[in-house]
Amino acid sequence: MLKVYNTLSRSKEKFEPLEGNHVRMYVCGPTVYDYPHIGNARSFAVFDTIRRYLEYSGYRVTYITNFTDVDDKMIDRANREGISVPELAAKFISEYRTIANELNLKPATINPRATEHIDDMIEMTELIIKNGLGYEVGGDVYFDVSEYEDYGILSKISPDELSSGARVEVDSKKQDPRDFVLWKAEKPGEPSWESPWGKGRPGWHAECSAMGKHFLGVPFDIHGGGQDLIFPHHENEIAQSAGAYGVDTPVKYWLHNGFLTIDKDKMSKSEGNFFTAREVLDNFDHQAVRYFLISGHYRQPLDYNTDALKQATQTVDRIRNSVDTLRGRLVILERGQIESSESDIVVDTAIEKFREGFEREMDDDFNTPGALAELFTFIKVVNTHTENISRPAIIRKALATLTEIVGVLGIELEKESAGLEKSESTETLKGTIELLLEIREKARESKDWETADMIRDRLDELGITITDTKDGPTWKIK
Ligand SMILES: [Zn+2]
Repeated sequence: MLKVYNTLSRSKEKFEPLEGNHVRMYVCGPTVYDYPHIGNARSFAVFDTIRRYLEYSGYRVTYITNFTDVDDKMIDRANREGISVPELAAKFISEYRTIANELNLKPATINPRATEHIDDMIEMTELIIKNGLGYEVGGDVYFDVSEYEDYGILSKISPDELSSGARVEVDSKKQDPRDFVLWKAEKPGEPSWESPWGKGRPGWHAECSAMGKHFLGVPFDIHGGGQDLIFPHHENEIAQSAGAYGVDTPVKYWLHNGFLTIDKDKMSKSEGNFFTAREVLDNFDHQAVRYFLISGHYRQPLDYNTDALKQATQTVDRIRNSVDTLRGRLVILERGQIESSESDIVVDTAIEKFREGFEREMDDDFNTPGALAELFTFIKVVNTHTENISRPAIIRKALATLTEIVGVLGIELEKESAGLEKSESTETLKGTIELLLEIREKARESKDWETADMIRDRLDELGITITDTKDGPTWKIK
């Protein structure tokens, strides 16, 4: 039974979708004004893993993640670069898609853009005003927090703390410092849309509420994002949906991932303590980056440092090596029957235990470190016993299980693997190596050691290592 930690109740709750087998999930996406940083990448990878595990568990998942393509930061940067806001958005949406592909993020069901849903935001704002929770001042529209009792329900920030103005933007137009903007009046040179309050554009918080409602209805099952979005972004989303649609909360389970630190310090652009996802992906194996991002529990802080990435690279290589060893053994077994062995039972049992352990850990609020510990226990058994497995079916099952489960964690062993990928040319290469090995075996049988060694050495020079085992030679690409 899956349990998830709900920020709203501050406790782990049994996971039950609102509508049968269908999970409706929304994750706050990037503001496309700059390259995503490695902290953003963590959030993307965390929620992609959660989505993959829900699918693995048999749920049908509708996964929505937006692009914020108009806001102050976008307008500033577009002006600085002398390009339009849509041009800037196009550039960074394309960058996001490249990074998403390199991090093995499954494509979202839909990636709505804020500017495509201005009508939904206007409609929501109208409803909030109609229900007495919003007011207009000179073309700006604000949410009236004093009229909404539950404000603070998610962040647990007390009304006193909020009223002091320490956590909220002070603005002379607001009736109360806690009030937040739903619609902003047009300023010269800014993109704007027609509305009942004159030309303007929506406030950021209005986006996710309106797009979530548009694609998933209210309430829906899961809303995800980084911890920094709990307040004010998600607190305001709850207020807006309560104000417009009359629900206590627009979302059943609120999930938030922890911060990413750099060498134990808070990531900060101004202090140079900052990496873009692009820089990290350019310097490390993409599968290792993905592994690193999900190696800690998603709610805990995760520390980025070069050693952690180097370690992740070695770990992913260890997984690949086990897969290569299993494949090598399969080739031997396919050549002829070998007597059944004790190792068949040991590995078969380990496969079942691995799957059970993986599910037990992931069912506990997506405990990826626990799931990875199960993976390494399994790999240890595989490494000890592969050489003695006698049934090809066991190898195939071990390979399929490994690939499937690391796949749920978003690690694709075939991508950028040092091993062979499935293509016509690699099939040809595989066949050629097998042929050379057969010739070498014939040479050995006739005690032509010179030819046998030459084949081994020349293959070695080409980066192909031959290991002689009691059941015949195996090979792998270094
Ligand atoms: Zn959002």
